[in-house]
Amino acid sequence: MRAIVFRRHGGPEVLEEAEVATPHVGAKDVLVRVKATALNHLDIWVRNGIPTIPVEFPHILGSDVAGVVEQVGPEVPAGIAAGMEVIVQPGVSCMRCAACLSGQDHACRQYQILGEHRNGGYAEFVSVPHHNIVAKPKNLSWEEAASAPLVLLTAWEMLVRRAQLLAGETVLIQAAGSGVGSAGVQIARLLGAQVIATAGSDEKLERAKELGADHVINYETADWVAEVKRLTGKAGVEVVFDHVGDKTWDGSLRCLRSGGRLVTCGATTGFQVGIDLRHLFYRRLSLLGSTMGSKGDLIRIVQLLEQGKLRAVIDRVLPLSQARQAHELLSNRAQFGKVVLVP
Ligand code: ZN
Repeated sequence: MRAIVFRRHGGPEVLEEAEVATPHVGAKDVLVRVKATALNHLDIWVRNGIPTIPVEFPHILGSDVAGVVEQVGPEVPAGIAAGMEVIVQPGVSCMRCAACLSGQDHACRQYQILGEHRNGGYAEFVSVPHHNIVAKPKNLSWEEAASAPLVLLTAWEMLVRRAQLLAGETVLIQAAGSGVGSAGVQIARLLGAQVIATAGSDEKLERAKELGADHVINYETADWVAEVKRLTGKAGVEVVFDHVGDKTWDGSLRCLRSGGRLVTCGATTGFQVGIDLRHLFYRRLSLLGSTMGSKGDLIRIVQLLEQGKLRAVIDRVLPLSQARQAHELLSNRAQFGKVVLVP
């Protein structure tokens, strides 16, 4: 099959088009013909190389996939058959351990992310266990279906499960122009929270407002901490939603009110941050880490997409052959929402 692969770590230039073997389909696996695959910042981390996560070369990126079932293994349950239109769950787990069986499959010791620990969707076909197949709602396009899983699942886990954001609380969503940020704005709005969103351009702020942000702040031109304080009558926010890391860390902590929760799922500007412990204990702050989310919650998210209560936010669609350009776009943070590749 045709795929975009890399054979060594490095910049976008290591991505190349190649003919590779079609993935093996095990007894409980489903082979999906990829109709669209969406990029995530994770793709760039994996391409650059994560020291603790060795990949086998040639490696195929792509965590978010929508497509059509091409072939099923002999032990795949009835109800999943060739021709079915599907969304692929990006997290693969054993489905037998205590974590998996209690709805915490993203805490499974064998957890793998499509495109990171195993080959993903920058290809004609991808093979996944049948537990990873969700029916695609008819009213979603391929591009929308592929854009949804990873960012909406990540943002859902951060706000619903970890920070337990409540109606009436105020949340600061950092970098609302990113995929996960635009998902965070929508979920916070759906939960009934007051949403303050930051972004680096006025155009992105307008789009954040369209998604449901009550207040927006341009972090390039404004003192965003002072602006958050002003908007909250000096109190600060109950929850900060962060995935920026070093560049926003100190300000994010200062924006929290007493008893506030900071939830983070990433660090696109740097992993090493400091903390004055007096802030943590005197102000009774909670720092919450978060990564991915459960398979059950993705099914819920797909229902909300079908009902039009959440939507995929797509910046642009490019042919798979332009994967390099797509990576450059994402690195330059030039986009609002998802960049999608189609065959
Ligand atoms: Zn497990």
